[in-house]
Amino acid sequence: MTSALAPGSQRFFGIAPAPGSKQFERVEIGQFADASPITIPVAVIEGANPGPSLYVQAGIHGDEFTGTDMAWRLIQSVDPAQLSGTLVVVPIGNTPSYLTRARGFLLEERYLQDANRLYPGKAGGLLTERIVAALFNSMVMHADLTVDIHCPLDGSSMVPFMHVGTSDDDDGWLDRRKLAAEAFGLPYHYYRIPGVALGSSDMTRSLAHQAGIAKRAVVMAELGTSRQIDRQAAIYGAEGLLRIMAAMGMWNAPLPASQYGEPTPFSNIALVYANAGGGLRMNVELGQVVCAGDSLGVILDAFGAETEVIVAPVDGFIMRVITFGAVATGAEVAWIGN
Ligand SMILES: [Zn+2]
Repeated sequence: MTSALAPGSQRFFGIAPAPGSKQFERVEIGQFADASPITIPVAVIEGANPGPSLYVQAGIHGDEFTGTDMAWRLIQSVDPAQLSGTLVVVPIGNTPSYLTRARGFLLEERYLQDANRLYPGKAGGLLTERIVAALFNSMVMHADLTVDIHCPLDGSSMVPFMHVGTSDDDDGWLDRRKLAAEAFGLPYHYYRIPGVALGSSDMTRSLAHQAGIAKRAVVMAELGTSRQIDRQAAIYGAEGLLRIMAAMGMWNAPLPASQYGEPTPFSNIALVYANAGGGLRMNVELGQVVCAGDSLGVILDAFGAETEVIVAPVDGFIMRVITFGAVATGAEVAWIGN
């Protein structure tokens, strides 16, 4: 059942089980320093009936275990006899980083690389570039829809949101992305303005941006917690993925409805920085609506005295907060969406 395949650009690494069956493989990307193989697990479930293809990718950041657990739940819950089309799932997209329980591989030649800033990758480049290239060329480019699962950065928490991509239809896939986002069922939908950086983070080599250039439909779901499995989020997310499959005509078993009503759309994310370093005491909750000038929290010196009041620079809602109780100057203590 399990073997190591060489990467390439062929559809789903050439894994093509017969209709009504599934095939689990480990695709070899390279070798670790002890010459043992670095492999990526790939599950291909071929429905008994024809239909579209969905690629679900989790764990491209190796410390986002909630997404990996969600993907495992999905793989184990789908019976190919009841499926129309092809479901492809990679539960651990970035195995080297997963092994070091970190966002990127700690032993990378050029230290930690953020895989979601390296798309479309480089087949003959750094290890992480090779992983990204293999997944982009063999998976994203061949699927009718890709759902990329993420969790908030370690030390932060975020409102659960769907990154729908751009709000225009230049890539021709807006309806498909919107349909998927609505079906998954998260309370916030992010419509990215092309070319806008996230603070110091250049997003032009993210999967979402590069998929737009390549005219592939990709949505990103961000929920749960990093570095541990958020059980509720994993279960809800696995159901959300089945709801996407139902919306695509791939799955028709009864499913629990979404927990949220009409999603809140937003297109801007304002980063709020700490100027002073010290203890961090936030006084806002995720999702809370704030106005420019509102106090969001305070920085404390080593004796607990307030040295800075963190102030909202714009109107909006609290999209993300740092959960670390101590920060240095320049920490992004909050993000405000609007
Ligand atoms: Zn991530």
